[in-house]
Amino acid sequence: MTLKVAKFGGSSVADAIQIEKIRHIIDADEAIRYVVVSAPGKRFDKDSKVTDLLYSVKTHLEYDLPYEQLWQVIVDRFSAVAHNLGVTVDLSKDFDEILENMKNDASIDYIASRGEYLNAKLIADYMGYDFVDSADIVIFDQRGKLKAEDTNQAIAEMLKAHDHAVIPGFYGKKADGLVKTFSRGGSDITGALVARAVNADVYENWTDVSGFLMADPRIVKDPKPISSISYMELRELSYMGASVLHEDAIYPVRASSIPINIRNTNRPEDPGTIITAEPESGGDVIKGIAGSKDFTVVAIYKNQMSTERGFIRRLAGIFEDLDIPIEHIPSGVDTVSVVAATRYIENRSEEITAAIEAQLHPDSVEIHDDIALIATVGCGMSMQAGVAAKLLTALAKKDINIRMIDQGSSEMNIIVGVENKDFNTAIEAIYDAFVS
Ligand code: ASP
Repeated sequence: MTLKVAKFGGSSVADAIQIEKIRHIIDADEAIRYVVVSAPGKRFDKDSKVTDLLYSVKTHLEYDLPYEQLWQVIVDRFSAVAHNLGVTVDLSKDFDEILENMKNDASIDYIASRGEYLNAKLIADYMGYDFVDSADIVIFDQRGKLKAEDTNQAIAEMLKAHDHAVIPGFYGKKADGLVKTFSRGGSDITGALVARAVNADVYENWTDVSGFLMADPRIVKDPKPISSISYMELRELSYMGASVLHEDAIYPVRASSIPINIRNTNRPEDPGTIITAEPESGGDVIKGIAGSKDFTVVAIYKNQMSTERGFIRRLAGIFEDLDIPIEHIPSGVDTVSVVAATRYIENRSEEITAAIEAQLHPDSVEIHDDIALIATVGCGMSMQAGVAAKLLTALAKKDINIRMIDQGSSEMNIIVGVENKDFNTAIEAIYDAFVS
């Protein structure tokens, strides 16, 4: 029988109305036996996420500021949901215990994790599912690194005894017994760990969008949804800033070839996006277009560069010493450029130029700001001639000056650098050329 793990993000469990929706989703699909939940997220635009409120409580405690009112807001939120859903679980003991621990200098991770803990308890009761605490199954080492194999075993072992369970996302426990959280958005990772451990057929990740879109809807009008994309293609897109899913959620399920299905709690009839281990054959040539503004290109020219041993290594070493992460290194015969995010380079032009001149003795070093990078991604492009030509022609037709081109050796993406001011027009032009 098919087995699914379903993770519901903050907006999907933000209040009683949303939790009723997830109940319908779960009830409609008996394959969903394990449910991972976030803390309640925003109910409307200006609302606060419970996790943010909890972090704020900790800050108040640290600065000896009155925190009681803030804590009461959190208690009231859970109490209102419990009341509206008509659940019988009594969270008052938990509220007291958490408050007591907070007064006794509980760690920031413990406090931040309580949103998931309380929400999972409440939802488990509402669903009639068992509550399984992540602190007992998600294991970190003392330095805070996830122990993936121990976690996998602990989850598998624990869930053998629970046919249906609701599990809080976002946290686990270190060997010393203290709670440790993942980085923000980390409930996605918990869901992936559970999916791997129970060897699920699908990991459903329910959120408030119907999967990934081929381009940013703020730039392209009504972009088409991506029905299926491989992990590798998604990495290329998320790397450029199109993130719906926590990046670390990909690894556990990818290793076991478990597909992730991104679904919309508010539109359960939409199929969403399936993320698969292998790219589909015969699918769309282009899966998506994503980009970011504000990169800087450091362009170096040196006669006979190509015959000089170790030039690129020394150049990369300069950036490493300056603690500047490199995004790309497009090169010509006697030219090479280093592309890095402007925020690392700002106000450091002289330092960078001086280091390059001292160590590499180039003929010239030029620094250009205001560059946007746009990645056009799709495994299908390696099988098809003319993709780059089509892309470049689309940009030329719009009079867009291309400052850099880079194609990964996997031929899964083409990255172009254009001026910041041309960013939107360039994305629209590429989208129109391939999709419309
Ligand atoms: N509640 C946590 C956050 O807001 C974790 C999560 O929702 O995934 O980041």
